[in-house]
Amino acid sequence: MIAVWHCQGVTSPSTAGAVRQGSLRELNLAVVLRRIATADRPPSRAEIAAETGLTRATVSAVVDDLIGGRLVAEAGPAPRTGAGRPARGLVLAGDGPAGLGLEVNVDYLAACVVDLAGTVRHHVVRRADLRPVSPADALARLAALAADARAAAARQGLTLAGAALAVPGLVDAGGLVRLAPNLGWRDVDVPALLAGHRLTEPVDGVPPLVVENEANLAALGELHAGPPGSASFLQISGEIGIGAGIVLDGRLYRGARGWSGEIGHIPVHPEGRPCRCGGRGCLERYAGQEVVLAAAGLAGADLPADTAATRLAELAAAGDPATRTALADAGTALGVAVAGVVNLLDLDTVVLGGGYAPLAPWLRPPVVAELSRRVLTAAWSPVTVRPAALGARSAAVGGAASVVRRIVDRPVGWLAHSG
Ligand SMILES: [Zn+2]
Repeated sequence: MIAVWHCQGVTSPSTAGAVRQGSLRELNLAVVLRRIATADRPPSRAEIAAETGLTRATVSAVVDDLIGGRLVAEAGPAPRTGAGRPARGLVLAGDGPAGLGLEVNVDYLAACVVDLAGTVRHHVVRRADLRPVSPADALARLAALAADARAAAARQGLTLAGAALAVPGLVDAGGLVRLAPNLGWRDVDVPALLAGHRLTEPVDGVPPLVVENEANLAALGELHAGPPGSASFLQISGEIGIGAGIVLDGRLYRGARGWSGEIGHIPVHPEGRPCRCGGRGCLERYAGQEVVLAAAGLAGADLPADTAATRLAELAAAGDPATRTALADAGTALGVAVAGVVNLLDLDTVVLGGGYAPLAPWLRPPVVAELSRRVLTAAWSPVTVRPAALGARSAAVGGAASVVRRIVDRPVGWLAHSG
């Protein structure tokens, strides 16, 4: 897996002279750890000193702290660059802190563990129709899955330093799920319902539990695992509802209240079909999973969300005319909405995730056609449209990765815990 850590927000070491001693140590730890996290190959202490402007003595002291705190480990000898003993390269540790990623969706629960280097060390998906289940019961089942993940992490020498939970709905800053329409949740206080379960170790600067919209966490997962270069992109999660995560310059754009990305309610036919939101002609009514299933002749088949996408992909691959037409129409509507977003935000990449990931071979051509017609800059700078690197279930992995990224950004909090 490729870990993409974007370098932002760290003050240059040359400007650090005036800061307090404690802050200076904190800054140096962050600078050195970030350098190791973003390196193409394991750098030596001398290389880090040369590239950061820190003295070799400072780098050595900082690296010793990071190794002692299980954030960094020594790899094999680096390529010899001169006379003397070959220096050892430095890598992110595989036995230190890890993130716990959780997901509640309409028809499954998921839990995963991602280590500091971005490797998924544990991942369990449990199928369950959660629509008839109360939020408290659904979260109790999730807590059991989380306890298994915690035990699996401990067996591998990892410590869970924080958790992120993906839900398919609108979440406010305190973790209150305002509305998850397809789960039937309204004003569900998730942190309160999980308060009796100890999911992670307390670490300064890392929230024990972040609750976040699943499209947003899926976008973070894509940022973490996707091919390098796409630092500004739109990640679309196509399920019964359609959500999007917006990543700008390597950072998730959550909006003023954390509710950005409701692309499913962008109108594509202003006087069109009525939508559950009260509006008319929303994208969801033309490219949502239920609509596509109905157009493909599968209405009422009552397929679980992921099975539905797989079934549509099978039919499309077999050349079924109704399914091909349904996907072409959905792709056209999607392309119209996405073109508006791309014109507004100047994104170079559109990622088809969630239930759209397995359907990308059929959705991509009509989306690309609409982008070519409607995006002003498309003629000289085409927009890349591709399936999600993590496939249909990237939200839990994205959530776990967001936890470890906090530690890379501010290692001193973890070191205080581990020391
Ligand atoms: Zn709507």
